[in-house]
Amino acid sequence: MEVPSPCDGIRLASGRATDRLNRGRQDPAVSPSDRQVALVTGGSRGIGRAIAVQLARDGFDVALCYRQAAEAAAETAERIRGLGHRVFHGTCDVSELDDVQRFIKAAEEDLGELALAVNCAGIVKDNPLVLMDQGAWKDVLGTNLDGVFNVCRTVVFGFLKRRRGGIVNISSVAGVYGNATQTNYCAAKAGIIGFSKALAKEVGPYGVRVNVVAPGFITTQMTEGLGPKVAERLMPSIALRRLGEAAEVADLVSFLASNRAAYITGQVIQVDGGITL
Ligand code: NAP
Repeated sequence: MEVPSPCDGIRLASGRATDRLNRGRQDPAVSPSDRQVALVTGGSRGIGRAIAVQLARDGFDVALCYRQAAEAAAETAERIRGLGHRVFHGTCDVSELDDVQRFIKAAEEDLGELALAVNCAGIVKDNPLVLMDQGAWKDVLGTNLDGVFNVCRTVVFGFLKRRRGGIVNISSVAGVYGNATQTNYCAAKAGIIGFSKALAKEVGPYGVRVNVVAPGFITTQMTEGLGPKVAERLMPSIALRRLGEAAEVADLVSFLASNRAAYITGQVIQVDGGITL
């Protein structure tokens, strides 16, 4: 039985889009041996840096963007070059669609067409809801959730046209189970999960996979702000009795981006040391 693809709507909506999609299906220039280029948002530091470096080890050239940490980004870029790979890095506010389009266009001109997008850029602005102002709500949703839409919206047509491509979105266990004082962050991270499952269904028939990685508590600048007392309080609820490392999240992203995960899509996989058991 043929499963109807929601992307068939593209054909009904636009003849031009159909033509381009169909050409992509037979394009002899698109071969699996082509050089692979990955985009990592929030790739300057923390988990994004670990992912960018791991993907370079896996053979990708890497485009990485950040908001302001130019020095950290340059260091990450240097590590990637040291692995013998090309790198394109620059500022891009993922909450702004125009900025995302500009960055991706420049990255593709420099490195070639993207084969993988990893949405890792994220911020927290925690407060109990009774104290949360609308700015903290909008900022966190803007970066964490609009950012995922902006990047996916920009890359997805190319992926469909070429009938290959992968997306890995970084959510959080907070988006699965909720966390007091993080209504904004949890809403954004839960939103990423719904978004990714819907998109996986839309683009799966075109050979494009979309998965979600949901880390628990990982040692980065984001969790540094919690302080030792919070980490101590958390410890008994983590089965492995330690915080995670950014490289441990990167290992899962690396697997999901690879052909070893060719039959995995629409999944939410937690890297959390058993915090949610
Ligand atoms: P981090 O160390 O604070 O790094 C955040 C990264 O996102 C930085 O590269 C930052 O760029 C970038 N960024 C922030 N806002 C941006 C924007 N508007 N546009 C573009 N880039 C932006 O955080 P992390 O701990 O590595 O977290 C990475 C991802 O994992 C986030 O999505 C986070 O929610 C998720 N996560 C983290 C944990 C954890 O325990 N650490 C747990 C679950 C999920 P600048 O350096 O220029 O600011």
